[in-house]
Amino acid sequence: MAEFENPYAKEDPFVQAHFDCLECGGKLWEYAIQQQMVCEDCREVFRSDRVFDDQIDDQDR
Ligand SMILES: [Zn+2]
Repeated sequence: MAEFENPYAKEDPFVQAHFDCLECGGKLWEYAIQQQMVCEDCREVFRSDRVFDDQIDDQDR
């Protein structure tokens, strides 16, 4: 597993989100303070609200 550079590790560790990466399907980890999620595989960063919207849309179909 790749190592993360997490500048917020001391104050605010990653929270594992219950979502899959929109790009590669990997696990997303959430920056609690920034409303962002980052993929542990491709390191794509997403806004949390965009991830929510996307996954809710998937469930509606
Ligand atoms: Zn990814």
